Amino acid sequence: MRLGAPLALSLTLLSSCLLSKGPGVSGTVDVAGGDTDAVRLVYLGTGGWIMEHGEELVLAAPLFTNPGLLATGLVGIGSDTAAVTRHMAGYDERYDVARSSAILVGHAHYDHLMDVPHVARRFAPSADIIGSRTVHNLLGSWSGVGDRVRVVNDSAGDARTAGSWLRVGPRTRIMALRSSHAPHFEGYTLYPGSRERSATEEPASATEWVAGETFAYLVDFMSADHPDSVAFRIYYQDAVAPPPFGFAPEAVVADRPVDVAILVPATFDQVDWHPEAFLENLRPRWVVLGHWEDFFVPLEAPTRSLRLADLGHFEARLARVFAGEWWRPDLGTEFRFPVE
Ligand SMILES: [Zn+2]
Ligand SMILES: [Zn+2]
Repeated sequence: MRLGAPLALSLTLLSSCLLSKGPGVSGTVDVAGGDTDAVRLVYLGTGGWIMEHGEELVLAAPLFTNPGLLATGLVGIGSDTAAVTRHMAGYDERYDVARSSAILVGHAHYDHLMDVPHVARRFAPSADIIGSRTVHNLLGSWSGVGDRVRVVNDSAGDARTAGSWLRVGPRTRIMALRSSHAPHFEGYTLYPGSRERSATEEPASATEWVAGETFAYLVDFMSADHPDSVAFRIYYQDAVAPPPFGFAPEAVVADRPVDVAILVPATFDQVDWHPEAFLENLRPRWVVLGHWEDFFVPLEAPTRSLRLADLGHFEARLARVFAGEWWRPDLGTEFRFPVE
């Protein structure tokens, strides 16, 4: 049957529209069926997450300032501490984030590091900041939290070699994984480079927040009854990586596959086999997407996807190779996963 051009066009539009909606979720997604021993994952937007099991809690670096494109490109930017306080206070009320033992930072671009000093000082006073040498040097002496950075450059693992586990809480350990930051568009990466010397002043523009070395992380919550066995394993990335950069060590995953993988769709089409290669490496039971929404608009504005890549295409590729459940959460979505 031949379709008339207008009908064919509208069918095409309809199917791409359905595709681009994907499995968006908000509110509470209870995979644990009411089990009170669940691991909770809460999406804070951009690279930001709360990961919690029992008394253990890890943060991944959030961004609440969301400077506009114009400011980011041309004018100076700085952390909007009032916005950070407003949003973090809400999460603190619900999740008691002062318990945080660590704040994960995958790379040092402003959207992953600029709001961290205020979060660390005010809301997570006893958390280690887990990040690169560049993260350490950019936070320097001005931020008041530079000496809380645990530099992972020398302890990170890769596909072949296990890294060292960093103990951060009584039942929480973290392994950094060597990764790499995919280009933003047409092979071009914004704000490249690393920072070799400790900063004495706050970076004043987006270009000063250089990426530095990029890391992904495994976060293990250990079993309360068997302190040497893993109760739940999370994989976290905050940038698209060209595989095998960002892989977890094969032997570590063979021992215990990943429960939840947090994958970033943002610029997946700048590299090959993202997400397919990561699914093969990590063998996750569930997948959640992070850093998918437009962070150049204030958080109060309606959430819409980042225009850097075709999110619908990413989701179609993910669905083709991944048989498990996966979601694209709105800001503030809480997942509850069962622990076995
Ligand atoms: Zn980046
Ligand atoms: Zn980013």
